[in-house]
Amino acid sequence: MLKQEVELCMNEVMRECMALKIPISTDIDPNIIINKRARSRFAACKKKGSSPYIIEVGEALLGSDRMVVKNILAHEILHTCYGCYNHGKRWKLYADKMNRAYGYHITTTTTYEALGLEAPERKRTIHYVIVCQKCGHEFYRQKKSKLVTETNHYRCKCGGRLKCYICE
Ligand SMILES: [Zn+2]
Ligand SMILES: [Zn+2]
Repeated sequence: MLKQEVELCMNEVMRECMALKIPISTDIDPNIIINKRARSRFAACKKKGSSPYIIEVGEALLGSDRMVVKNILAHEILHTCYGCYNHGKRWKLYADKMNRAYGYHITTTTTYEALGLEAPERKRTIHYVIVCQKCGHEFYRQKKSKLVTETNHYRCKCGGRLKCYICE
């Protein structure tokens, strides 16, 4: 997937949010940042001062299915809603709405939070996100469990293949 296609995906997700009257920020930079550190496949939603929200995705994510990319973008875009810069009640409510309306599998964890929203100068911790390539469901692991080291030996509940993404 090219950067432009990721931006197209973001546009679609934003329109889906608006159709559900989810109050996403009107100040999101349409230019997505592709992070080229090869092994990281994370996404982040960043905001500095009065500049627009910036969505950043790991370059390796570009190899994923459209649905997986959209799922991850939706997770980040919901962080731009008022009072949603964490995975609190309001964020969860919107995530539920998206999941129900469009079949997303947007999930919340504090570890995932650490990926994008932690200041870069802080010490990074590595986490693992295992994403179903069929339904987009995300599993989180903080340690190198078997699901991380032998991802290919496992399947999602839906039968889909799993891919492990390293996040920091
Ligand atoms: Zn998050
Ligand atoms: Zn699945």
